[in-house]
Amino acid sequence: MSDLDYDIETLAVRSGIVRSQFNEHSEAMFLTSSFVFKNAAQAAARFKGEEPGMIYARFTNPTVNMLETRLAALEGAERCVAFSSGMAAILATVMGLMKTGEHVVASRSIFGSTVQLFSNILGRFGIETTYVSPTDPEDWRRALKPNTKLFFVESPSNPLTEVSDIGALSAIARQAGAWLAVDNCFCSPALQRPLALGADIVIHSATKYLDGQGRVLGGAVLGSKELMEGVYTFLRTAGPTLSAFNAWVILKGLETLSIRMEAHSRSALELARWLESHPGVERVFYPGLSSHPQHELAMEQQKTGGGIVAFEVKGGQEAAWRVVDGCKLLSITANLGDAKSTITHPSSTTHSRMTAEQRGFAGIGDGLVRVAVGLESVRDIQNDLARGLNA
Ligand SMILES: *Cc1c(COP(=O)(O)O)cnc(C)c1O
Repeated sequence: MSDLDYDIETLAVRSGIVRSQFNEHSEAMFLTSSFVFKNAAQAAARFKGEEPGMIYARFTNPTVNMLETRLAALEGAERCVAFSSGMAAILATVMGLMKTGEHVVASRSIFGSTVQLFSNILGRFGIETTYVSPTDPEDWRRALKPNTKLFFVESPSNPLTEVSDIGALSAIARQAGAWLAVDNCFCSPALQRPLALGADIVIHSATKYLDGQGRVLGGAVLGSKELMEGVYTFLRTAGPTLSAFNAWVILKGLETLSIRMEAHSRSALELARWLESHPGVERVFYPGLSSHPQHELAMEQQKTGGGIVAFEVKGGQEAAWRVVDGCKLLSITANLGDAKSTITHPSSTTHSRMTAEQRGFAGIGDGLVRVAVGLESVRDIQNDLARGLNA
């Protein structure tokens, strides 16, 4: 099948399938740790890389390979390497491509564990990170050093949905001889394809929208064959491997990715508009709203505004907690990208490790609430939020 000829909805259902001798219709799950060789010569050829084929499930498994092929087709990447989690994928990107003494420029608005990884763990191994504004490309240029190797960004960001200009960042990175990595977790390839916008590397927490139903953890790194060779070598050697079971779950999750993202986005836009007109709400953060500071850029880069809506409630933490605690339907959890809507109070949970001053600088107010809009009826989600907002 020539993947180039098909639309993303078709690729999500049809690409990457490798059938066994039984010619099963649905993708099979291969639960085996190792594979048998016909003879000594074949074993030797496989280990030398002279003959393609399975060896050992730390780094080769047919179900994992099917997921990698499908996700690569969706992102328009030459190659995908799957991992046990999103964090393992980010670690492998750095371990596979960088060395001690090199420098990262990262958006200030990235996932909390990614900040911990860059600052506290990779920092101990002599990889330094400078944090800059997600919305000002010139800030990235100013942060460049002769040893800068990697730009790292999430767009839209969590929870304020700031949108970064991926094309502008890629131009600055390229000029400086650095790679641009985009954590595409919030959009998924159904809404945004960073490689087509100029990025060198795409990273996923497959735990979120790619599975989409809150079942398993997984991660992936995508890019050129050349870049992915280093990332794959790290996987093969260090072993943060995606299990065949999790790969199978995510592979089947991808089949419904486009229709899920459309539904999440439709409900999120309706919810955002409703919140914007609510007297108890100070401000709404959603890229699909014309009031969003990077609305035009978002609509160029993304198909829709996505499924995450944040809003600042009038009355600070007390009022925000009233909204959270008023919910009977929405789940109070920090997760996102699930069919079930979730509600989070960032300043006391996901962003509580920051000081109050850091939170103020990052724009994470005490009245801020984040909703990851699921697949329930949007009217029911509104009614759930209205209880606390109207109190
Ligand atoms: C959840 C998340 C991660 C980490 O992924 P895990 O699968 O939990 O390891 C990384 N980046 C973003 C934007 C996330 O939301």
